[in-house]
Amino acid sequence: MRIGFIGLGNMGGGMAANLAKAGHDVRAFDLSAAALDRAAEAGCLAAESATEAMDGAEAIVTMLPAAPHVEQVYQDALFAAETGTLLIDCSTIDVATARRVAERAGAKGLIAVDAPVSGGISAANAGTLTFMVGGSQEAFARAEPILAAMGKAVIHAGGNGAGQAAKIANNMLLGATMIATCEAFLLAQKLGLDAQTFYDISSKASGQSWSMTSYCPLSGVGPESPADHDYQGGFATALMLKDLRLAMAAAEDVNAATPMGEMAAALYEQFAEMGEGGRDFSAIIRMLDGAGD
Ligand code: NAD
Repeated sequence: MRIGFIGLGNMGGGMAANLAKAGHDVRAFDLSAAALDRAAEAGCLAAESATEAMDGAEAIVTMLPAAPHVEQVYQDALFAAETGTLLIDCSTIDVATARRVAERAGAKGLIAVDAPVSGGISAANAGTLTFMVGGSQEAFARAEPILAAMGKAVIHAGGNGAGQAAKIANNMLLGATMIATCEAFLLAQKLGLDAQTFYDISSKASGQSWSMTSYCPLSGVGPESPADHDYQGGFATALMLKDLRLAMAAAEDVNAATPMGEMAAALYEQFAEMGEGGRDFSAIIRMLDGAGD
């Protein structure tokens, strides 16, 4: 299938490469020449503009930093894409923008889905992402085989915007449980418990969570995680903060009570302001540890 792919950064680079590996004819574009070169090496055809990448494509995948970039590229798609083209936006953006761009695309005879991902750069490279898809049943049926070439799970969340809603609600939960997990380890340690002993108990008790058993914020405890590598790699604090801000804006729009989410957003903001935006989000345990002294 001819696929246009726009946005070949940390995530999009590996995703476009996996589409090419699956045998698709991928016409790729990015504003960065270095990203474009890497895509060409990975089997994609480097286009000179977004519209060139979109020309004649049956599907167009976007993996862009934030909503303004998606709005801009979708503006190009309204003119460059042929009627019936499927637009798949995998970027993490706000629910309202996802719905608005899908509606505009629909009015021009294009079919759009939002399909944000769970999983980081290594999952993008390995083709093991989880996609949460918002769009009609018909659009989902068309998007599923394309997304399956880049992921291990493709889930239909509901109509347009539902994929983004699932993504930000999930990441709000993740941000809050990570902070709570860090607090619990620090409290247990200050009460005289060995960290490993607390892990052995809590990982089998009601406090268990993914933040504890798959991504423990303490080095040497639980399976290997960014904590074992000085919190390098993993999921950057800046990206967690971005998702928490999107969740807070969405909560305000629909008048949902999210006091824990608000607290998580404020704490991650504080951590990012300390110059730690590039470090894995579990490193917030260092700030919380210092805050208790
Ligand atoms: P990134 O900044 O590495 O990549 C974005 C790419 O888009 C860049 O290469 C940039 O040059 C390109 N770009 C921007 N505007 C463009 C335009 N108008 N035309 C063409 N190219 C353009 O970001 P990333 O880490 O790959 O993240 C992409 C999205 O995925 C974000 O929305 C992010 O929140 C989400 N996400 C990231 C991760 C992660 O671990 N990095 C995990 C889950 C979701």
